[in-house]
Amino acid sequence: MNKIQSADDQLSQLNRAVEMYQKKRLSRRALLDILKWDMAVTEESTVSTFLDGVRGNQTLTDDLIDEITRLYTENVQHWAFPEEGGLAKALPEAVEGTFPELIQSLKSARGALSNVLDKIVGVNVRLNLRSSYGAVVDARRLMSSEIALLERACEHVGAGTLLAPEFPGEDDLGQPSWSSPGGAPLSPKQIVWLADLGQKRPELTVNYAEGISAHSSPPQLVTERIEAREWERIRAEENRRLEERMRKGMARSCPRCESAPGAACRSRAGTETTMHKGRYIVLARTSQSIRRG
Ligand SMILES: [Zn+2]
Repeated sequence: MNKIQSADDQLSQLNRAVEMYQKKRLSRRALLDILKWDMAVTEESTVSTFLDGVRGNQTLTDDLIDEITRLYTENVQHWAFPEEGGLAKALPEAVEGTFPELIQSLKSARGALSNVLDKIVGVNVRLNLRSSYGAVVDARRLMSSEIALLERACEHVGAGTLLAPEFPGEDDLGQPSWSSPGGAPLSPKQIVWLADLGQKRPELTVNYAEGISAHSSPPQLVTERIEAREWERIRAEENRRLEERMRKGMARSCPRCESAPGAACRSRAGTETTMHKGRYIVLARTSQSIRRG
């Protein structure tokens, strides 16, 4: 959504939020919330143009200007904490995006589902679409709860909230804690949970970026995607080789049914059949010819 917005659009969207606040159509809290998320998905140069404008705006209180500036430097910028260098390259499509961008894209997908609901109701054919409607409502509800969770986790990650360094009882199971080099990345739910736990024992805490800094393995989904791609590549290569062999096999006569080069293999009854293995599996032919020789 925000990817296709021009810098000018993004800038006017940020400025519009400030105007709405000044017209008292937004509370201060709502303004800061909107700015936080919008600035997170806006190019840095556009944000600094916006912030220059805010700082030069005589109608805003110093205290609000200060808060907006701090919102960016202390919070939003941290959302893009540096990931392991080579990780993006390891991604099959080298998709790179920040955590807030992911959340924004989920929100826009949820918005699209609401339009789908209108379409279901408004379709100009008499149909009972109750089950289709229900399916989309369920999907939207699932997305909403996932978005809420992701937002909370994103805030913790971005703000550098201190988390408990391990799950209770993890040690007893002999599993490496998430914050150790052998650990795995956390789910949003786990981040939220460990943030709550961390508040109870503040003496033993670590923020998310620090905790995962020693990890050597990429996130689970990335690994799965890479493995799936690798299998696809291997299968494609095997298919290519098989086709090549069958093409070569076709160019010679079949040792089993003795079909001439270029002619299809035939069963004993004389009907065309799939190529006999001995015609295209070179290894079998070679060992046969060695035996014959
Ligand atoms: Zn044959």
